[in-house]
Amino acid sequence: MAERLNIPKVTVYAGPMAAGKTNRLHSLIGGFQATHHPYEAFKPSHDIRDSVIQPRGLSENDAHECAVVRSLAEIDAARLVRIGRLTIVLDEFHMFGYNEKHDPIPDAYFNTMLQWGRLGIAEVYAAGLDIAASGNTFPIFNEAHRLGAEIVMLTASCAFPVNGEKGPTCRQVARNSQIWSQKQRMPYRPPSLPDLLPEGGDLDMSYIPVCDKHNVEAYSKEVSVDYIYRADISAQVA
Ligand SMILES: [Zn+2]
Repeated sequence: MAERLNIPKVTVYAGPMAAGKTNRLHSLIGGFQATHHPYEAFKPSHDIRDSVIQPRGLSENDAHECAVVRSLAEIDAARLVRIGRLTIVLDEFHMFGYNEKHDPIPDAYFNTMLQWGRLGIAEVYAAGLDIAASGNTFPIFNEAHRLGAEIVMLTASCAFPVNGEKGPTCRQVARNSQIWSQKQRMPYRPPSLPDLLPEGGDLDMSYIPVCDKHNVEAYSKEVSVDYIYRADISAQVA
């Protein structure tokens, strides 16, 4: 019988844009702070947004601080264990599966969790996209799933403009995200879309959650959604 791997207890909050993933981490951290539970939170440096855990719609004052690292390997877990912080929180988890050139890091999750487990890290809470806008599942999410992490799947409300760009949005359950080009007034085409495009990295890009129907349909339609998340994106870059 295979020996059970000594890896931390991992919980991953996954789902499309605007599903409340970061919100879950934010609440969790609020709980840790209230109960004096030691933890350390990290974000990957290729997410260009601020070094805080700040769900959409929440003010900067209410955001939680977090450290920014280039990779999971840069997190000094031995030091964390020494100072009694056995809980690690990771935002933008899907991006931790890539290096700074945006190439996938093979076995990023497995190698990290094995090391962290040996060192004594007890639990990890992560939030990130499960499916890229290309339709591919992020490799690090696949790894976490395969290696027994508890996956909490969240859904959003489809933001596809069913009745013109100023009309109401579809609002069916959304499990996928799309990236729209505002200049081209249409979604990025899957064959040309890399799996990793940091949100806010390009002012031309808007991310929207979409239902199954509109995830497929959108690629053959020319619809502008430039009002969606524009405020968010300019706030991130300012
Ligand atoms: Zn829809």
